Amino acid sequence: MGKTIVNGNAEPTRRFVNADRHQCQCGGQLQKFDENSSSQTAYCSRCNEYSLILRPAYETQVIHLNLFGTIRGNAAYQRPYSDMERAEELVVCLVMDVWPNWATIDQFSIYSSDHLGALQHALRSGCTAYDFDRVQGDGSAITNLVRCVSTQPYGRVDFDHGLAFAKSSRLHKRR
Ligand SMILES: [Zn+2]
Repeated sequence: MGKTIVNGNAEPTRRFVNADRHQCQCGGQLQKFDENSSSQTAYCSRCNEYSLILRPAYETQVIHLNLFGTIRGNAAYQRPYSDMERAEELVVCLVMDVWPNWATIDQFSIYSSDHLGALQHALRSGCTAYDFDRVQGDGSAITNLVRCVSTQPYGRVDFDHGLAFAKSSRLHKRR
């Protein structure tokens, strides 16, 4: 309890995250797509959607990514998997306690100082630029990410809005 594993300390954390042990919200088996030092992105071949798997220190370990499979990829209309520019800018602003630029505010649905505070608290609790990158543009996934931190003081803040609404209403029924 209270033991924080920092970025770059990859080996102790990696073995605890294993997509094979987790199911998609549809009941399908998750398979690793890629990973960083503490989290994995996993693919479900049953519903063709992705999930973010966080290390077990968090309240919620599997966060369904409603848009990742649509907005990320190698097609001309998709953002490349390697492009984490917005998430990295977000992290710098959270560390410096300043507002990000408009594009980043829009991508992370930062509607108020409470929204900014919730993201800030998630970062301080161990969420990384990789985690933020995976939920970028997906309000319900951002909400679930900030709420996965058990000590989150802004747990009532909701990042959800129009874009992911139809799918998130299904997501929110899960406990
Ligand atoms: Zn699935």
